[in-house]
Amino acid sequence: MPLQRNQMMTSKTTIKALAPGSVIGILGGGQLGRMLALSAAELGFVCHIYAPAGDNPAFDVAARHTAAAYEDNQALAQFAKDVDVVTFEFENIPDSCLEFLKQTLPVRPGVPVLSTTQDRIDEKQLAQSLGIKVPPFAAVSTLDDLRKAVAEIGCPAVLKTRRFGYDGKGQTVIKSDSDLAQSFEEIGGQSAILEAFVAFEMEVSVIAARDLSGNLATYDIPENRHENHILRTSHVPANISDKTRQQASIIAEKLATAMDYVGVFAVEMFVVGQGADEYLMMNEIAPRVHNSGHWTSDACHVSQFEQHIRAITGLPLAEPVRHSDAIMYNLLGSEALDITDLARQQDMCIHLYGKQTARDGRKMGHATQLSSIKAG
Ligand code: AMP
Repeated sequence: MPLQRNQMMTSKTTIKALAPGSVIGILGGGQLGRMLALSAAELGFVCHIYAPAGDNPAFDVAARHTAAAYEDNQALAQFAKDVDVVTFEFENIPDSCLEFLKQTLPVRPGVPVLSTTQDRIDEKQLAQSLGIKVPPFAAVSTLDDLRKAVAEIGCPAVLKTRRFGYDGKGQTVIKSDSDLAQSFEEIGGQSAILEAFVAFEMEVSVIAARDLSGNLATYDIPENRHENHILRTSHVPANISDKTRQQASIIAEKLATAMDYVGVFAVEMFVVGQGADEYLMMNEIAPRVHNSGHWTSDACHVSQFEQHIRAITGLPLAEPVRHSDAIMYNLLGSEALDITDLARQQDMCIHLYGKQTARDGRKMGHATQLSSIKAG
């Protein structure tokens, strides 16, 4: 079987790994937590999921769970007593929660990583300081700031809340400077960032893992197609030049090293220009396993989920070897209610998240279609 070997950088430092049977605490009870818990179980670990009460599909597959608020220090203290290491599947966790847990436990990735990546401006400033290209941007706190930022950056531009945005929530495109008050209102008048609208050729992401000794393993780069700001499909490999592929890995390595990152992360990027002029601009960093890496569960020997568990427990990373080309389809809302037709297709690997209500646009599952690796 032809294999696609991707990048792996190794050092010889030895770290004592957590023993099988150790307990991994996961903050967040969504599908990412569920897939992390399934992978952790495969490696003989026990998972304890902590998430506010609600539809928490991760609870169904983990040995233990706590349904409590992230601000509930009593519940957090109980949770802390039970687990050996803490990680998260969701980046919008209050700093206070991780600060509390880190007093007694290793939190991986670390708390500073979360603060940087929760703030779109801090994140872009970090990238710039490392020589990574980002769209021109400006900080906006008031309507007056927004007027100045639009005068500087021009239209079209994208106005995004500075913190707590996901899947296009909390953002709006500004087409002309006549609708500024309305645009500012649309994002709730919150602290924001204005970014130049990038006329990209395609969107890609790099999914990588860094372990406790600083070794880095980078998966192949998928092309990601969105509809209504929600990821629809990821296609692997992306049709980009080898130079751009290398650039993506260098960007991932620079960011991971600068943040002293431990675990899996994703960097979403825009591919700009064509041919010899093709280059990458960073959009955002996700400090966790990522939707655009779901294909790794079926097209690679070791998935992003297992890779994350390996990284945070001190196990060696796996080489990010890919054995198939893949297209990952997100199953949104009612698309996941009947999977009979999908199940008839022998090249489809189906994953449903067990969520109770299929709201429009809600990520209910995904299916990855595999094919043989085409000679490149
Ligand atoms: P984000 O929440 O920043 O990941 O944005 C969600 C989606 O909006 C991205 O995947 C892009 O399709 C689009 N988008 C975000 N920022 C920009 C930008 N500066 N220029 C063009 N499209 C953007």
